[in-house]
Amino acid sequence: MSRFERQLPIFGEEGQQRIMEAKVGIAGCGGLGVNVITALAEAGVCRYIVCDNDVPDVTNLNRQYIYSAGDPRPKSVISAEWILALNPAADVEAVSEPVTSENGDMFAGCDVIVDCLDSFEARMALNDHSQRLGIPLVHAGVSGFSGQLYVSVPGRTPCLRCVLGTARDPEGPVPSVGAAVGAIAGMEALETLRIVSGLGSACEGVLTTVDLSTMRTERVKIERDSSCSCSEPRS
Ligand SMILES: [Zn+2]
Repeated sequence: MSRFERQLPIFGEEGQQRIMEAKVGIAGCGGLGVNVITALAEAGVCRYIVCDNDVPDVTNLNRQYIYSAGDPRPKSVISAEWILALNPAADVEAVSEPVTSENGDMFAGCDVIVDCLDSFEARMALNDHSQRLGIPLVHAGVSGFSGQLYVSVPGRTPCLRCVLGTARDPEGPVPSVGAAVGAIAGMEALETLRIVSGLGSACEGVLTTVDLSTMRTERVKIERDSSCSCSEPRS
């Protein structure tokens, strides 16, 4: 416990125990993902599913600091190795697949799923898995200086579909600098720790947008989209 001495005033011993027992699903090991796993491993999270089918590319390296150009291994495998280096007691399952509408069962048994993805379609598939499995979903997105955070709790808040609606991916690569990605990912990791420790999330049902060029934040309570399947009574 001395390793976590400085965070015990934040989470308490019971909260720290919950952090160390929690199982976290990490969907995407790109810029958000590498920062989130680092923060969670530091804080003592021991059990992970990490999912990503990409291999490192030189254009990733301005923000995805755990990779080297030319490493032929999938990011999920390198991420698992990174977590184990930070926390040798960790139990990490690496899944080298994209998140699709078919493979959500890998997240069964997780206490929380963290959306570190970069495509609308994969995010919507992940949202539907979160709803079906009844597991809270922590979402973050970042583009240039703009970031956003949202936490969906199945049965209690609107889902991520209600937030993103008919948004689509922009054409071409999203502008991205490591310091901005790291800032938003730090917030995403903190929300995850607040959930698993029992402190509760400040983003539950509330979309928080952060403009890192002006340091302005906005918070909007999300209403359920009556046409969304999350409005249907849960069986
Ligand atoms: Zn919904």
